[in-house]
Amino acid sequence: MKSVKSISVLGSTGSIGTQTLQIAEEFPEQFKVVGLTAGRNLDLLVRQIQTHNPEIVALADASLLPELKSRLNDNSPNESQTKLPQLTGGIEGLNTVAGWDKTDLVVTGIVGCAGLLPTLSAIRAGKDLALANKETLIAAGPVVLPELKKSGSRLLPADSEHSAIFQCLQGTPWADNARLSTGIPTPGLRRIQLTASGGAFRDWSTKDLEQATVKDATSHPNWSMGKKITVDSATLMNKGLEVIEAHYLFGLEYEHIEIVIHPQSIIHSMIELADSSVLAQLGWPDMKLPILYCMSWPRRLHTPWERLDLTKIEKLTFKSPDTEKYPCMQLAYSAGRIGGTMPAVLNAANEEAVDQFLKEKIQFIEIPKMIERACEIHKRDLNIKPNLDEILEVDFWAREIIREVVKKNS
Ligand code: NAD
Ligand code: MG
Repeated sequence: MKSVKSISVLGSTGSIGTQTLQIAEEFPEQFKVVGLTAGRNLDLLVRQIQTHNPEIVALADASLLPELKSRLNDNSPNESQTKLPQLTGGIEGLNTVAGWDKTDLVVTGIVGCAGLLPTLSAIRAGKDLALANKETLIAAGPVVLPELKKSGSRLLPADSEHSAIFQCLQGTPWADNARLSTGIPTPGLRRIQLTASGGAFRDWSTKDLEQATVKDATSHPNWSMGKKITVDSATLMNKGLEVIEAHYLFGLEYEHIEIVIHPQSIIHSMIELADSSVLAQLGWPDMKLPILYCMSWPRRLHTPWERLDLTKIEKLTFKSPDTEKYPCMQLAYSAGRIGGTMPAVLNAANEEAVDQFLKEKIQFIEIPKMIERACEIHKRDLNIKPNLDEILEVDFWAREIIREVVKKNS
């Protein structure tokens, strides 16, 4: 086996991206960063290029390329930097980085369905993926799964819950790793329990949610993440999306995927096996651990990171989720069960509704109502076996519908 793994990071300036790069810095004998992509944060991207010296860099917003070039030329290369990276931009540029010849593993840290095409490029180039960008799998499961089968790429889950399940499955006879993400049920696996912290509003009453502001919704009690996923955690749509993600990753039907509220976020998820034994993975709520596991898999690396001490926590608690207070979970189960293009509509409507909330155009409690409306209208146009273009079409349509409703109501 090659000793240094070459990594490309899609969305390098985000929460997942920066944590991936911290790991690469911490383990220079294990990982070499060869590709980066970012949206618009040039200050951070320039620092990342200087630190990691990648071979290729893409900016999603190609209009910023001249500025990036001049900034890199102005800052004389540091001692370890032998030459400047190849620079590219736009969706073509993202696809080039995703399929870059020298890359062994692509970490997908782009937020939203914007990650779909680069993820497909990585799969088609036969790369292994550390999947953080769950929206891609949720929107396009029916396209992504056959592509994985064809190319032999492995989809390693970076989402903490799915990483927990994946880690538990490593020690499970019959749970064949190669089957991961092929949609074939893993024999011996009877039930998955996804844990949820409960998000920013776990101690709020339903009535109080009517007053929830952007600041309230973007302050997560346990995890430090990007804005969109933090709002998804507050609505519990994140857990709903993770139910669909688990369905596609592990091949279980929806009645065997459950949600448990666990406010301490120490148990990252559990599996129940055929004989009723339950396995769980535990750790501090820190995304570096599931990201590292994707990067080092199938090996484990020694880390100096803080070790879990359950005596410091004293008690772990659990309860059933409140589906009335948080309708997004049921919307996700329902879209997942319908399948086809419905999860793509759910996902796009959610992305747009969250964006409108962050722009203070709608109230927090309107988010699920908007998503429900889009899914309801889409029922008449449901496509049960969509191709990529059809998924992109409904993604576009659902965003339009939400924007129209918001415009009409304002
Ligand atoms: P973030 O907002 O912090 O970062 C997003 C990254 O994507 C940035 O680098 C940004 O420049 C880039 N980006 C944004 N829009 C883009 C576009 N249109 N085209 C190309 N690049 C674009 O988000 P995050 O919290 O790091 O989340 C990234 C993904 O990982 C999401 O799908 C999220 O659900 C998932 N995830 C995140 C966490 C976490 O702890 N942050 C945990 C589990 C899963
Ligand atoms: Mg998660």
